[in-house]
Amino acid sequence: MQEFRYRQAKTVEGAVRAGGTYLAGGTTLVDLMKLNVLQPATVIDVNPLPLAQLEALPGGGLRIGAMVRNSDLANHPVVKQQYAVLSEALLSGASPQLRNMATTGGNLLQKTRCYYYRDTNYACNKRQPGSGCSAIDGYNRIHAVLGGSADCVATHPSDMAVAMMALEATVHTQGPQGERAIALKDFYLLPGTTPDKENVLEPGELITHVTLPPLQSGTRSHYLKLRDRAQYEFALASAAVVVRLRGRHIERVRIALGGVATRPWRSPEAERALEGREATMENFRKAADAAMTGAKPLKYNAFKVELAKRALVRALETTTQTERAG
Ligand code: SF4
Repeated sequence: MQEFRYRQAKTVEGAVRAGGTYLAGGTTLVDLMKLNVLQPATVIDVNPLPLAQLEALPGGGLRIGAMVRNSDLANHPVVKQQYAVLSEALLSGASPQLRNMATTGGNLLQKTRCYYYRDTNYACNKRQPGSGCSAIDGYNRIHAVLGGSADCVATHPSDMAVAMMALEATVHTQGPQGERAIALKDFYLLPGTTPDKENVLEPGELITHVTLPPLQSGTRSHYLKLRDRAQYEFALASAAVVVRLRGRHIERVRIALGGVATRPWRSPEAERALEGREATMENFRKAADAAMTGAKPLKYNAFKVELAKRALVRALETTTQTERAG
């Protein structure tokens, strides 16, 4: 680990003014500093900031402070009852100990689990721009089939962000230029030729909170995660579904996929294939095919195309069965 300066922020404005890399739960940053993947000169500890409130918004919806811990968010009664997809996604991630530390803001900014990114012996455009990508012709079983480029095919590892994508969350920030509200669908960048630039945050910009819009009465949701082992593992494919039915008719649906793309992957194609149609297995399969249109499998990850389709079909089936039962 390289030597660095450590400062504690007392106010949001002070944190932004200080300029440095923000430390929240530390569950990603500290690991990567130990591995010399990240070498910040200055670390600003934002734990003292008053950003840990979780509150219902007047008129519906939820305001989630950036420092709300993943465990607290997952187990909050409003989240469990109204935003089940978010609770399920959070509880499917990491371990209880990590969830007790990891924060909402930090989770959105999780770094990829690409082995080559985390090992400084290998070329990696994301870690060192212009050095090459060891995964494209390497062992790429966990990598992306959607959203990749010739320079990077790393998946985004967050489960929480996939659920928030389907919930149409908004990220709120404060930076040197003031406050911003950014729709989550516009927050993450595709790797293109600059995989080191992962999102639209400007230097020094701090996530302060996330808001979720209210869900109309009768909306049901579900997160399904498929992985190599049952716990403490990242998704090979996952599906977040938020759906409202009238009888067996799909009035509105929002769909996002995880584990298969370079960013949490909202699928308007799958949504279009379902809205206004009946909730049938045939239509679920058509939506799954639409979701994976344009997938580009690599040497070792072609299985993800079918796995993601099955994850989505099963998530839709489960969600609409729940709706029927309710
Ligand atoms: Fe680096 Fe991306 Fe290639 Fe992985 S896939 S080695 S993160 S450039």
